[in-house]
Amino acid sequence: MTLTMPAPITAEQLETRNRERLARAESLLRQLESASAPFTKGSVIAPLNDLHVELHNLGAECGIYIAMHPDQTVQQLAETLQREGIELGQRQLQSRRVYDALGAIDPASLDAVERRFVDISRTDMRRAGALLGPAERDRARALRAELTRLGQDHARNIRDDTRYIALEGTHELDGLPADYIATHQPGADGTIRISTNPPDHQPFMTYAHSDRARKALQTVYLDRAPENVEVLAALTRTRHELARILGYPNWARYNVEDRMVLTPEALDGFFTELDDASRDAAKAELAVLLEEKRIDHPGATTVGDWEWQYYLNRVKTKRFHFDAQEVRPYLEYGRVRQAILDLNSELFGMTFTPAVHEERWQPTVESFDVTIDGDPAGRISLDMHPRERKNKWFFNAPLRLGVGGKQIGHGVLCCNFPDPTTLSGPALMEHAQVVTYFHEFGHLVHGLARRKVPFVRLSRTEGDFMEAPSTFLEDWIYDYGVLTRFATHVDTGAPIPADLVKRLRAARNFGRAIRTRQLLMRSRQSLALHDGTRPGADPRVVEREINERYGLFEPIPGTAWPASWEHMDTDHYSAA
Ligand SMILES: [Zn+2]
Repeated sequence: MTLTMPAPITAEQLETRNRERLARAESLLRQLESASAPFTKGSVIAPLNDLHVELHNLGAECGIYIAMHPDQTVQQLAETLQREGIELGQRQLQSRRVYDALGAIDPASLDAVERRFVDISRTDMRRAGALLGPAERDRARALRAELTRLGQDHARNIRDDTRYIALEGTHELDGLPADYIATHQPGADGTIRISTNPPDHQPFMTYAHSDRARKALQTVYLDRAPENVEVLAALTRTRHELARILGYPNWARYNVEDRMVLTPEALDGFFTELDDASRDAAKAELAVLLEEKRIDHPGATTVGDWEWQYYLNRVKTKRFHFDAQEVRPYLEYGRVRQAILDLNSELFGMTFTPAVHEERWQPTVESFDVTIDGDPAGRISLDMHPRERKNKWFFNAPLRLGVGGKQIGHGVLCCNFPDPTTLSGPALMEHAQVVTYFHEFGHLVHGLARRKVPFVRLSRTEGDFMEAPSTFLEDWIYDYGVLTRFATHVDTGAPIPADLVKRLRAARNFGRAIRTRQLLMRSRQSLALHDGTRPGADPRVVEREINERYGLFEPIPGTAWPASWEHMDTDHYSAA
């Protein structure tokens, strides 16, 4: 069957649809503000949820197009609309009349979910400044608008900055998998170029024998989006000022208050526990990497940031007889994609039917209508390969949230995996990339599973629980029974050998303490940027300070890092 593809969504369509949403939200806000006693479910809760639906739909759709639409005009328009939606959302959150009306509803007339909605909505409103005087409220809203603008700048600067290095010759491809070498041959000018996009960057850091080339690539990778040094400093300064106006000593306290962890002190306590639990194991792993490095560089005393993944793979090859390259021929993108759909069908009773729709933004995006146990559960879209001006990382976000009784959801995966349509050979994946695919797909499934929640505001998972379900799901991709279903050799069709999977599993845990401490260090850096001790500081200086105390690897000096640190533009990942 040939599917007739509608043209990608245009700026005009985006504008019309979202101007209508803004108008409806504006009119719902007027309605809420003019409601009079007695305040009820019907006069307050229902219109407030409707307003949330309108603004969430706007924000979600614009968020997807900003990150992934190939047309810059559409991206810019989506940024403008997103700012207007957030501004209107802030006016609702700061409305004292709505806050009081919610508080005046008789709790006995509400069920448990509705009471939770009232509580959480009032908390949100207090946290947006609903209880402040008019001048402070306006200032808080202005600072929010500034944070939106800075966040958009931050994401755009990373999105628009892909760097390349030129290799000094084909010998600098030594160590890389045959399929990678085949797809990275010299261009018309005789030069081999390697990009900072994940499908190029990740294997290169793992396999390339050339220390010079690895270091050169990692240097340009860390030097991306240098404008964000300023932007990140402005973000932390503005967040601090906003937190102060809202009555908090610093942004960290404001930002974790509505998480399970509750306070920066509890967060810091958790860091200490993790620190104690991982210290010795990480030291031992590092010593092994250093020993391996000394084979090439006798007398070396440190392992560099551009070397550790390479030596980690070499150690795994020797100790566990597991070379990650061995798995690649079994992990061709198309088969992996199908296997993930099949596995989710089996685990969660899902079906996937290819779909075309008016909201598509790029011809290569695949969409499916999904059922769970026979019930329509929404739609998913997979945008899986790098492009110019597309977000460079891996995430799941709704294009539309499923809201029970109101609308069916549409979840989107943004990934950057090897692209079968642009490579001259097969698009082979790293096992680690397949783990990421399954992880991100888990977020998608989790989103669909929440489709019956009747309130937009309650559909969001607790911030510090968000990663848990997807992390559990990663284990399946280490299961022999699961791998044998789809992992067949790209040339011979032979199934993945049991022995290889055994070695993959044995090698899995080596390096885990190092990774834990790397993440711990990032978390400490984020907290340090937001704990009020140095708002607006140069993030490179704060990063260096934490790295000197907790870092395991020799850093590359003088880059713009942490300018290209993804997710730092959002509240979710700041100070946590
Ligand atoms: Zn995740």
